Amino acid sequence: MALDERDLFTEKPEIRPVRYQCIRCRRTAEYGIRWIRRSKKARLPAGASEEDRAKFAKARNYLLRLDDQVTCKACGKRFEIPSQHSLMIADQFAGLPNEEELEREISAASGDPAPEPAPDVKPALPARFTRKSTGWK
Ligand SMILES: [Zn+2]
Repeated sequence: MALDERDLFTEKPEIRPVRYQCIRCRRTAEYGIRWIRRSKKARLPAGASEEDRAKFAKARNYLLRLDDQVTCKACGKRFEIPSQHSLMIADQFAGLPNEEELEREISAASGDPAPEPAPDVKPALPARFTRKSTGWK
């Protein structure tokens, strides 16, 4: 049984304010547009196939827009959202609250130092690896 999107992502509804200009009365207002944010899960459920693993490896967080239309706050007419994008890869969205960054800030605020990358020191090779080969016999 193949996994579906819900097995790869956690879903979270999200309202994002966007300014749109009404195509009829030309007035601009801010509208709360509903999206679904799909965040990649930390790991795949047990029993995932090779195909699922490949799909999961390529998967990225994204936002799926639920609203196609808004109702103008000035004239009350409905108009289509003048944007072709109903799906956005999360990191394309400038100004998007970045959860990783948020977590770093939280850990910084709690006095937890961010994990430093281990210094790149190579341990000395044991003698048996550096000893001259006596050749094939
Ligand atoms: Zn209008």
